Parts: sequence; C-alpha cells; structure tokens
Amino acid sequence: MLENGYFYEEALALTKRLVEIPSINGTEGETHVARYVHDWLAKLPYFQTHPQQLVVQELKNDPLHRINVLALVRGTKSDCQDTLILQGHCDTVGIEDFGPLRDYAFDYQTLPEKIKALTQDPEVLADIESGEWMFGRGACDMKCGDAVLMCITKYFSENTGQFDGNIVYMLNPVEENQHYGIMDALDILLEWREKEKLNYLMSINTDFFSPAYPGDTHKYFHSGAVGKILPCFYLIGKATHVGHGFEGFSATLAAAEIVRQMELQADLADEYRGELTLPPLALRCRDLKPSYDVTSPQACFLYFNYFIHSQPMAEIMGCLRRVAETAMETVVRHTDQQFKRYCQRTGEPYQPCGYSFQVLEYDRLYEQAKAIDPDVDRALRELADQEVQKNADRREISLLLVQHLCNVCAITQPTAIIFLAPPFCPRNTMKLHVPEEKALLEDVRQLLDELGPAMEEDMRLMQFFPVLSDSSYLKIDDDEESIQTLIRNFPGYGQVYSLPFENIKALNIPAFSFGCYGKDGHKWTERVNLPYTFGKLPNIIFAALERYLIQ
Ligand SMILES: [Zn+2]
Repeated sequence: MLENGYFYEEALALTKRLVEIPSINGTEGETHVARYVHDWLAKLPYFQTHPQQLVVQELKNDPLHRINVLALVRGTKSDCQDTLILQGHCDTVGIEDFGPLRDYAFDYQTLPEKIKALTQDPEVLADIESGEWMFGRGACDMKCGDAVLMCITKYFSENTGQFDGNIVYMLNPVEENQHYGIMDALDILLEWREKEKLNYLMSINTDFFSPAYPGDTHKYFHSGAVGKILPCFYLIGKATHVGHGFEGFSATLAAAEIVRQMELQADLADEYRGELTLPPLALRCRDLKPSYDVTSPQACFLYFNYFIHSQPMAEIMGCLRRVAETAMETVVRHTDQQFKRYCQRTGEPYQPCGYSFQVLEYDRLYEQAKAIDPDVDRALRELADQEVQKNADRREISLLLVQHLCNVCAITQPTAIIFLAPPFCPRNTMKLHVPEEKALLEDVRQLLDELGPAMEEDMRLMQFFPVLSDSSYLKIDDDEESIQTLIRNFPGYGQVYSLPFENIKALNIPAFSFGCYGKDGHKWTERVNLPYTFGKLPNIIFAALERYLIQ
C-alpha cells in the first residue's frame, strides 16, 4: 500500500497539461491529446525497451483519423497472465455552455475568478473559496481520471518486479457520443488476449461520479454500466386545412401524447436488484413540415433516451407499442369528444368521427414491404449508402429508410412506426447467478470495505455506472434473442450502424468504475475535487492492483 497522496502532485500537474489541450468530441483535438499521452508513455524507460507494447490504433473509417492508445505492461514476478485494464476517454463535450467565458474554458487558472464574477450559486462559490477544486472543460470528465491512470501505469512500469500480473492502459476517443473508439479497441484487446495470452480479470474506468443528492458525501464505485437505446416513433397522421380541423388525424397530438407518457415517467425507470435507471427523456420531437402553411402536419418524428438495467428488448418493444397505441387512441377520442362538444355549442349536427389506425414495429413494416417488393433490400441499401456518403445524421437516415418502406406499403391510414436508431449501449453488471461474477463482486466489495475506514471515506459499490460509458462495450448482458430483436428493429443495421457484438461477447470483461469525484460535468462549472481524486483514488486503484496482480 502506498501512502495517501503519493501520486497527488504528478497527477494534478498532468491533468493541468491535458486540460490545456482542447479535445472536444468531433475535432482534431481528440487526436492531439491522445498523441500527447502516447508520447508521454513512449518516453518512459519501459516503453523505450518494449516499444511494441505501446500501440496507436487509428479508428476505422474515421475522417478525423482519431486514435486509440493502448499500452501493455507486464509484471515480472512470475509468468502469471492475469491482467487489469485501466481505461479512460480523451474527448470532452463542447464549450457552448461557457457562454461569455468560452475563451477561458481551458484556462484552469483564470476560470475560477471569472466564474465567481458571474454566478450566485453558493455551492460553486464555496468550492472556489475552498481551493480544493479544479475547474475547466474536461478537468472532471475525465482528464483527471486519465492522468491518474497514466501515473499508475508509470509506477507499475518502474516496479514490474513487484507484480505477477499485468496491466493494459487504454485511452479512447469518441466516448461522448458514438463510442467508436472503444469498439475498435476491442480488436487489439482480443489480439493481445490471443498472442500475449492475457487473462483479463476486469477493467477499471475512472470516469467521474457526482453527489447523488445535495449533501451526499458517499464515494461511488460501479460494477457495470447502464444500457441505452434510442427508441424512435414515426407518426403518420392525416393532414387537414385549418378550416377543417376536425377532419384530420393530428400527428402532433399523437407526438405530444407519446412525450407525456414517456418523458420522466418514474414507472418506466428500469430496475435491477433495487437499482433504478433514470426515466426516459425526449431528445427530439418535431413535425416534418418543411415550411409554413395552413395545413396541419402530416407526420412527426420523435425519439427518446431510454436507459436499461435488465429489460430484454422484446419487453421494451412491447412497452413502446402500448405507449403508441394509447397515444393514437387518445387522438381519436380527443378529436371525437371535442367535435361533439363543438357541435353542442354551434348547434350543428354531430357525427362520430372514428379513425382506424395501426401501430407497427419496424420488423413488421419491413416484412410487409418485402412481400410487396422482394427487391426492397437493394433500395434500402442504396438509400443508406447514399446518405452515409453524405455523412447525414444517423437518426435521419433511419427515418428515411422507414419512410421508404411506408411508401412501398402505400400507407395512407394513421400509423405509428416504432424503430431503433443509434447509438446502442449494451447494459452489463456482475450477475449473482454467475459464480465467478458473484465471487468477483463480493471480493471488490470486501476490498472497498477494507479501504473505506483507512481512507476515511464512506464508499458505495453500485451495480451500474449510471450515465453512459465506454465500459458498456466490454460485456453484454442481453441474450441472443434480445440482440436479434434489437437488430430486426434497427433500420439499416450493418450499414447505418453496427456493433461488434461478437467481440463484446468473446471478451466479456467485468467492467468496474472507480471514478474521479467531481461536480457539474458537461456544465461550465465542471470541476474536480482534488483531495479525493488525486490524494485517495490512485491509492484505491493501486490497492486493487496489489490485490489482483500479486499472488
Ligand atoms: Zn466521461
């Protein structure tokens, strides 16, 4: 066990350096910061003598040529092949939220004073006053975590004789949206497992956690990652002139009703062994009219962030169907009731205006279209190709494919189509019914129980890192049937988007998170707590290395 604070100065200095290199997701900065990390590692004596164990991997089909950096350090005490992966991402979100302070987003020295002049938030002001927090884009999410792992990798490389097992340090880009970095890195992890005979025990990700509620002082650890899908609804109504409002079927009202039924609905939060996801949130909700006129919208398109802890895909699709059916029924009922009321008021004759409607999952729509046009796959492929070439938004491509099938089927009646679009993040955690997973979970819990009092921290081991992480791609808990349901309802799967399911299943690496402690990630007041993140966290991770890599 190293004394607390052993890595403090070096990790803090490195974090400052990394924050100064902007690496906003979708920019060349992602590569700049990854290059810096690579060069820093390459200068270590260990990699001077083992250059083949430090790898730069360019992402496939990436116009920005972004890179993964992977480094293998072997313990030499014995020929044990047990290996821990130390994992972080190098991209950050943008800086739009900094508003007038945009020019200071990476200036960790000046930023606190500038923030002080603009905020009334007592917690932010108190944190600035304490001197225990570092501000700046990426300071908390998650350059501090990258720096901590770099320091540990360096120490390990200088003390290989102490360890039986090995570590793999891994830095990935593109984490904040598409996760393509980790997906490609799985190839190297698999290659090393075969060639270097590595036995991956687990991965430790240092992405940040925050207090769960005001005054929360727990320090959180996670034994898995939340899953996420993007369920989409394409709603075809019946457009009408404003002068004949009651003759239409309002796609807008159907969309509103779907949002009402889904958004923040606590009962839609998925649960696994007492731990809940956050409920769904609409990420897009719009009609598809190109411009103003006095006709009601013919169609609407909306999609949601939908977190998953345990639900199989078939169950989720069933839930989405019920939501869509209720929404369409609501439109019929509301239109009819209001027409009746209106006729009462005007004295005009009332006639019930009942519409029939249908709700179709994408796989059903596809089957219907295929029966009409056996060559429909070619048309879908060409359309997807053409849009991917244009680098169109993936969700919009999915919508175009759905619309094409609706045209093939000549759909004229009000219809709700349910489908899935990118990204998909698999859910995973340690399952108690899998003996090895149960044993590892209990052992990590014991490690934290032992460390807590020594660290004077109240540590909590949760089952899922709650807000999306690259750790999703190291293990998948969906069974084959659930995966197939997902693929069948994913327009353009294999072209618009694909996942390395086989690699994920082959690796099946327990994915833990030993996070940095910070607040306001993705906000302009993003900040990392120095005493815990640089003083204690490295020692906790180091204690895990000692526990699992020394026999
Ligand atoms: Zn992050």
